[in-house]
Amino acid sequence: MAKRDYYEVLGVSRDASPEEIKKAYRKLARKYHPDANKDDKDAAEKFKEITEAYDVLSNEEKRASYDRFGHAATDGQFNGFGGGFGGGFGDMGGLGDIFDMFFGGGGRRRQGPEPGADLRVDMELTFEEAAFGLEKEIKIPRTEECGTCGGSGAAPGTAKKNCEVCQGTGQVQYAASTPFGRVVQSRTCDRCRGTGVIIEKPCPTCRGAGKVRRHRTIKVKIPAGVDTGSRLRLAGEGEAGQRGGPPGDLYVYIHVSPHPVFKREGNNVIIEAPVNYAQAALGDEITVPTLDGQAKLRVPEGTQTGTILRMRNKGIPDVRGYGRGDQHVYIKVITPTRLTEKQKDLLREFARIEGQKPQSGEKGFFEKVRNAFMG
Ligand SMILES: [Zn+2]
Ligand SMILES: [Zn+2]
Repeated sequence: MAKRDYYEVLGVSRDASPEEIKKAYRKLARKYHPDANKDDKDAAEKFKEITEAYDVLSNEEKRASYDRFGHAATDGQFNGFGGGFGGGFGDMGGLGDIFDMFFGGGGRRRQGPEPGADLRVDMELTFEEAAFGLEKEIKIPRTEECGTCGGSGAAPGTAKKNCEVCQGTGQVQYAASTPFGRVVQSRTCDRCRGTGVIIEKPCPTCRGAGKVRRHRTIKVKIPAGVDTGSRLRLAGEGEAGQRGGPPGDLYVYIHVSPHPVFKREGNNVIIEAPVNYAQAALGDEITVPTLDGQAKLRVPEGTQTGTILRMRNKGIPDVRGYGRGDQHVYIKVITPTRLTEKQKDLLREFARIEGQKPQSGEKGFFEKVRNAFMG
């Protein structure tokens, strides 16, 4: 079938202004609109024709090339919706696309499966649990697909049928007055509340919702090495999807409680170990707590407060499996406070001897102080 001239279709002259074209289109669109011409295939064809003409003539660029090359310039651009009308107006899908194209969308139809929402759970772990990981059970309230009806919402043995108001699309088109004139818009169908289907006999378990709310106990495997701020994703353990859509995910956010002795820096464990004056001066083997239990640590002779001794591989396992951190032992030399007379005498004797010897490590410091006071 030869295509009619677009100007002829809209009934305007070749030098019509954009305003005239718009006016002509509105008048014709109202007349041939499918809502006003139910079951009239000719009107549908006509509506498609004027819509196509308007699409070209209302666009400055398209109109210019149409003026120069005729239909050859625009052929092929309408293949996209040509098929939409083939099935007649029982299927409103094609129309919806055109309306979206012309009127800027105005609410995409929410048809078909939609994934369920993601869920979040916060989990408190002890320092050791975070370090070594564990399997923990959590109880979460979530919606799940109804087992009785398999998510359909219809009572077993009964079926759902397409909504007769919206023909199963979930959307109804209507004409609305806007600043641009009367345009066709769509809204969610009231009858089926946008689902496109009517359930005649609702499932007794979920009352037609297709979903039920449940408290579900889920086993969560916490890997070794997690820390506050770690987030675990359990795919498919979130809320049930809509209309057969996949379920959402469950996210577990980790919080680690502080430990009375251990602190954490990355994968390293930090602890403070007090040693007495004699141990620091003479060296000693001390016992320190580690994540793996008590362990021996050699404090070398002449250790100062603030010295950090490293215990290899006594830290926290890397959460990605890259080995283990270290334990850093921060040495704190404790100055004695309650001494017996004998201890005091020994220390005085020690001080007397010490005073005659040149200061080894701190010599520079004392010299500087002396210089500062004596000038
Ligand atoms: Zn059910
Ligand atoms: Zn409906």
